[in-house]
Order: sequence, then C-alpha cells, then structure tokens
Amino acid sequence: RVAIEMIGVNKWYGAYHALRDVNLTVTAGERIVVCGPSGSGKSTLIRCVNRLEAHESGSIVVEGVELTDDLRHIHEVRREVGMVFQHFNLFPHLTILENCTLAPIHVLKMEPRDAAAVAMHYLGKVHISDQAEKHPGQLSGGQQQRAAIARALCMNPKIMLFDEPTSALDPEMVKEVLETMVQLAREGMTMVCVTHEMGFARQVADRVIFMDAGAIVEINRPEDFFSAP
Ligand code: ADP
Ligand code: ADP
Repeated sequence: RVAIEMIGVNKWYGAYHALRDVNLTVTAGERIVVCGPSGSGKSTLIRCVNRLEAHESGSIVVEGVELTDDLRHIHEVRREVGMVFQHFNLFPHLTILENCTLAPIHVLKMEPRDAAAVAMHYLGKVHISDQAEKHPGQLSGGQQQRAAIARALCMNPKIMLFDEPTSALDPEMVKEVLETMVQLAREGMTMVCVTHEMGFARQVADRVIFMDAGAIVEINRPEDFFSAP
C-alpha cells in the first residue's frame, strides 16, 4: 500500500524555488530519513505532506487523498498524519493531558473520558504518565518532546512526520526522544523524519533521502549511504 506519493512537486517562496521536481513514494510501514544541508528544503518537503505548505505544481497523494485547496481533503489528510516539530508546539496554558485530549475531543468527537484513557496510554508508552497533570513549562525539553509525540499518537495517525525533533534538545535528552522514535519504528509506523541523527538513520531507516537546493539528489538504503564509495 502506498502511504505518500509525490510526483513532480514544485514549491516556490516568492521567487525562491524551494522544492524542485520532487518525486517520492513512501510505502506503508516504511521509515524514511531526510537529510541535507540547512535550507535544502527538508522541512518544506514534509510540511507539504500535511499541507502546512501548499505546493504549486505536481501532485501529492496521502493515504489515497490528493492534496488540493479542498479543505475537506486537507482535514482528512491531517487526521491521518501526525507531526512533531523541533520546538514541541505544546499549548503552554494546558496540562500535558489536556494537550493530548484536545484534538481527540474536538476533532474526533471522542468522549473526554475515553480521550483521557487513550492519552494516558500513550503518555505511558513514552514514560511520562507521572507528568500528565503538569504544564509544559514544568517539563524538561526531552519530556516535552515525548509529550508532543504522545499527543500526535492520540489521533491514531497512519503516518508520523518528524521535523528535526531533537535539534532543540540538550544532548542528554536526545537519547530518550530517539528511543521513543525507534520504538515507534519497530511497531511499524510509517515515518518520515528530518534529522541529523545518523545513528538513528542507520538503526531504523529503510531509505535515506539526501536533499540539496530543493531537489532530492540521492535516495539510498542506509548501508549504501554510510559505506564509503
Ligand atoms: P531545511 O528544512 O532543509 O533547512 P527549509 O525547507 O526550511 O529547509 O527551507 C528551504 C528554503 O526555503 C530556505 O532557504 C528557507 O529560508 C526558505 N523558506 C522556508 N520557509 C520560507 C517561507 N515561509 N518564506 C520564504 N522562504 C522560506
Ligand atoms: P526550522 O529550522 O525549524 O525549519 P527555520 O528557521 O528554517 O526553522 O524556519 C522557521 C519558520 O520561518 C518556518 O515557519 C519557515 O517557514 C519560516 N521561514 C524560514 N525561512 C524564511 C524566509 N526566508 N522568509 C520567511 N519565512 C521563513
């Protein structure tokens, strides 16, 4: 089954050509790591997958739904796609539990009690059940990022997108977040991860994509990517 299909995708920011004829097919259950220099379009690529950015030409089909200006399609796709950002993007005035139950209650129309049960399940999986009643500001960066991953999982997504999830963390907290991501990969989640963590890439990636100046210049299996020519 195809999870994500991008064909001839182009994106401009004004005159700046940010994605150049990007072609990429991601199969369900596949783990993709995207790397490349700063400004090469990695973030733009994954932000196009859940329409945080709109592409100008080509087509993007996610879980069988083509991304167009049609808001129904955009909402449909966003339900299937969880996203984790560099800076967590948790709501600071809500508790961790409330962060996790907000979308399930308001978007999926879950009963608050059921949403809380689901949230506690995922907070347990990322080992922060004991932080559920705290506010994001009371947690370490690593705990906040794991809360953000749990929040995304509460929507029961088919695909998870990660945009440099460990880049803003102190070194000692990187490991705990990567462990959570490795666990998710082992469970068969379809993942597209922008990251500079090459150990993670080696461990879980089915393919490593290298971007430069808005184009995918290389797609490799990690063993090819890391072996010297
Ligand atoms: P990466 O994730 O590889 O660092 P990005 O996808 O964030 O790259 O950005 C690619 C290029 O597009 C960069 O040169 C960046 O400055 C530019 N860019 C990103 N977002 C915008 C925007 N909203 N408006 C204008 N230019 C942007
Ligand atoms: P990150 O490393 O997290 O991608 P960036 O500094 O590249 O962060 O971008 C932060 C925000 O600023 C993003 O929303 C991006 O779209 C926007 N942005 C990046 N470059 C530009 C630019 N040249 N002009 C306008 N907005 C930009």
